[in-house]
Amino acid sequence: MIIVRDKIETLLQNAGLPSDNDVNSILKKALELKGLSLEEIAVLLNVGAYGHTPLQKSVLKAAGQVKDKVFGRRVVLFAPLYLSNECVNNCLYCGFRMENREAARKTLTVEEAVKEAKALVSKGYKRLLLVAAENPAKSNVNYILDVVKAIYSETDIRVLHLNAAPMPVGDLKRLKCAGVGVFQVFQETYHRETYEKMHPSGMKRGYDYRLSAMDRAIEAGFDDLGIGALLGLYDWRFDLLATVSHAHYLKERYGIWPHTISVPRLRPASGSPLTSPPFPVSDEEFKLIVALYRLAVPTAGVVVSTRESAELRREVLSVGASQISAGSRTEPGGYDSDEGRYEASQFDIDDDRSLDEVIEDVAKLGYMPSLCTSCYRVGRTGKDFHELAGSGNIKEYCSANAILTLKEYILDSANGSMAACEEAIRKEIEGMTDGEFKEGVDERLSRIEAGE
Ligand code: SAM
Ligand code: SF4
Repeated sequence: MIIVRDKIETLLQNAGLPSDNDVNSILKKALELKGLSLEEIAVLLNVGAYGHTPLQKSVLKAAGQVKDKVFGRRVVLFAPLYLSNECVNNCLYCGFRMENREAARKTLTVEEAVKEAKALVSKGYKRLLLVAAENPAKSNVNYILDVVKAIYSETDIRVLHLNAAPMPVGDLKRLKCAGVGVFQVFQETYHRETYEKMHPSGMKRGYDYRLSAMDRAIEAGFDDLGIGALLGLYDWRFDLLATVSHAHYLKERYGIWPHTISVPRLRPASGSPLTSPPFPVSDEEFKLIVALYRLAVPTAGVVVSTRESAELRREVLSVGASQISAGSRTEPGGYDSDEGRYEASQFDIDDDRSLDEVIEDVAKLGYMPSLCTSCYRVGRTGKDFHELAGSGNIKEYCSANAILTLKEYILDSANGSMAACEEAIRKEIEGMTDGEFKEGVDERLSRIEAGE
């Protein structure tokens, strides 16, 4: 079973105030990159309750250390490219819902999608997440395939991931063959009754078809999968345990951990009947959720989008987040033009800084902004990726590739003062322990500087 609801509910009912000893022994295991069982996560859920702040701090700190052990200081940056907001579904929380009469509707033509991708390339992006509303007549698989092929052949984008509706195996096979990297579907909530309430009509109504989206993706040949729950729809403790349970299921049944676990939190969306989250998640809880995902599935990319404020995004970097979007627009055509921006967007973003600003900020905070796409290009995906990451050996590659892609970015795309990035590169090279790696990086840096 993908999630065992009774087990999760029993764990939640029994989750009490954790003792120092319990927490410390669980964190010791997590720091060995062994991941956590549902029982162990349940113990950690209440570290913030009843003023247990020192315990909560230990959990957050351990998550930061696990992130450093697996990926080093690097933080991957990407942008979403919204293809269509013409949706046949009616998700109560989304600005793209069919019954939202206020939204200006748009599906990009293939040419427009390429124009958007080119606008993003000129800002320095190398990886994009294609996002599409569900609509068999507009954003169907043939359309998405045409977009993928055109962006790969006409732009310098190196990898395209996809967040779209669940699909049949045949469609997914074609997307995989066209070079889609990660296939991402958020369950929204794993709580069936809430799911059914939130999705009153349209193709998304089927809870089970959505829950099995990743099984079909694997059957179609995808080995990089993205999962997540939309925080705010139901009790976050339930959805967190269920998301990790989904990750365990994928590992046990198919031998692969999810490549990413996204942490989207409900935002206001114009024209959506859900004016406030039924189960609000505070910033402190949000940080704990990020940390628990990191401890539970150490090799997954934990993704925090521009739904969150600049301040909170800074903080989550130290508690386990490893991938962030930047400079995002959530309306089709948002990068090439500012027209109609607010009438057509999916939800309001909270961090509207440009890629330049985010990169500089990340570097100033002591992290290594990375535009790397190397794993996909060399086929280091699925099991190979997780084995290398889980043994603590991927971070050398991450570090080297972050240095090289940041240098390329400084030379090709950066607008602002990039002193902070140069400093980050210098420090990262200084911290490299493997002499051979270091030499290789120095040599390739000189070639980039020489314009190769
Ligand atoms: N239409 C496809 C689907 O629903 O799976 C894929 C694209 S949908 C635009 C991407 C994700 O945006 C959804 O899975 C949902 O989690 C998230 N989302 C929708 N409305 C949101 C809101 N108001 N605030 C934050 N995230 C939202
Ligand atoms: Fe459509 Fe996805 Fe928005 Fe639901 S979340 S209305 S399926 S775009």
